[in-house]
Amino acid sequence: MPTVANLAELAPGFSGQLLQPTDAAYDDARRIHNGLVDKRPAVIARCLGVADVADAVKLARTLNLEAAVRGGGHNVAGKGTVDGGIMIDLSLMRGVQVDPKAKTARAQGGVLWKEFNRETQLHGLATTGGVVGTTGIAGLTLGGGIGWLMPKYGLALDNLRSAEMVLADGSVVRASADEQPDLFWAIRGGGGNFGIAASLEYTCHNVGPTITGGLVAHPIQRANDVLKFFRDTCAKATDDVMLASGLLFAPDGSGMKLNGILIAHCGPLADGEKFAAPIKAFGPPVMDAMGPIPYSVHNGLLDGAFPRGALNYWKAQFVTELSDACIKTLVERFEAAPSPLCQIVLEHFHGAASRVPVTSTACAMRVTGFNVVIISQWTDPKDTERGIAWARETHAAIKPFLAPVRYVNYLENDAETDAAAAIYGPNYARLREAKKKYDPDNFFHVNVNIRP
Ligand SMILES: Cc1cc2nc3c(=O)[nH]c(=O)nc-3n(C[C@H](O)[C@H](O)[C@H](O)COP(=O)(O)OP(=O)(O)OC[C@H]3O[C@@H](n4cnc5c(N)ncnc54)[C@H](O)[C@@H]3O)c2cc1C
Repeated sequence: MPTVANLAELAPGFSGQLLQPTDAAYDDARRIHNGLVDKRPAVIARCLGVADVADAVKLARTLNLEAAVRGGGHNVAGKGTVDGGIMIDLSLMRGVQVDPKAKTARAQGGVLWKEFNRETQLHGLATTGGVVGTTGIAGLTLGGGIGWLMPKYGLALDNLRSAEMVLADGSVVRASADEQPDLFWAIRGGGGNFGIAASLEYTCHNVGPTITGGLVAHPIQRANDVLKFFRDTCAKATDDVMLASGLLFAPDGSGMKLNGILIAHCGPLADGEKFAAPIKAFGPPVMDAMGPIPYSVHNGLLDGAFPRGALNYWKAQFVTELSDACIKTLVERFEAAPSPLCQIVLEHFHGAASRVPVTSTACAMRVTGFNVVIISQWTDPKDTERGIAWARETHAAIKPFLAPVRYVNYLENDAETDAAAAIYGPNYARLREAKKKYDPDNFFHVNVNIRP
């Protein structure tokens, strides 16, 4: 790849770093969370502020480079980077400003959820955010935002108040209910299709600092019964509580397979204790770490299960009913998991996130049911074929039980080319109109693309 000799001259005001493959910092900067994605951008524009983001867009235009936008770099499909193009990298933009009186927080586009939670929890505040602390707020929010608080407060995007957007021509606008409302509608679900969110402003809520959370775990041999109990418990869940279940390996390296139930109850602690009691009694579990826990600690519980650089291939889709037959199939498929980093996670959807009308934001994922996330992770490249095959075969095995709903942020990199139309359903035509207006030549296309 030839280097650009006069890069600095082409963007004279740029205050961050403009890296090329010959620079020492390049190799680290090009890497994202998923080690399976090994792309080499021609230029990495590490931005320090909104003006740098605008300059990076203009630089991409000048050099006629394909552009990818990196927020937290967690996208499993690798949409945060590009071969031979420009990675517009927001990972140095990590500021969070909380207004405790107004209960709002504004965060720059490179902030991670653990950083956001740390700043907001200082004031006893939080908003719905990712369950793994190292995930970026920007990509997660613009695509949806599944998190522990969603039954009570909606998806992350339901809590977005405004975003400072750098558009495809390098201009900067604010999108909110009052300013560019059509753009504001589109970015709440439409991902990075419409521009780059240099900063995002959220509504926050009083949460914790102590909630009822954590997990219990059972031996895999009991998984059929545990998952039926989990399903029946989900049916009784109020908006205060989110539940998830995971078929996973013990983190101690023993190779023992487990079935965990996780809860996050953000209501009064006495209510949380009452809700948790039958979950702690069932079985009984072989491990019980459920009870009062700081909200930010609860949000870090899963971080260790997702090591940076591990090789990842995921498939995810909803089931509206978790039938006994589906449970049986999932347990059988987990038995065949090829690596101790593999998991099958069931994220329960109900409450506020599911009640928002499908057309009021671009996000069409407004269902009740379970998001089945087949997480294939491994560390040795020679296991790649097996790792990918297991996820695909597991997805195929549960096909009879699947609803058509899929989460755009969990979509695999080799999904069908018309995936966006299926994902956005009734909102797709309106999204295309917004795309024609804000990005008519599809500059922002390294994403689940909405074609103008
Ligand atoms: C271990 C792990 C745990 C996860 N947990 C959750 C979870 O709990 N809940 C959930 O909802 N999702 C979860 N996800 C999925 C997550 O939502 C997506 O991976 C999301 O894309 C991550 O955002 P990011 O900013 O880190 O991604 P990146 O890889 O940086 O970017 C992903 C996409 O978003 C766009 N984008 C990024 N930043 C910006 C920006 N500032 N402006 C405009 N577009 C931007 C990019 O162009 C790209 O298309 C998880 C993923 C992983 C790997």
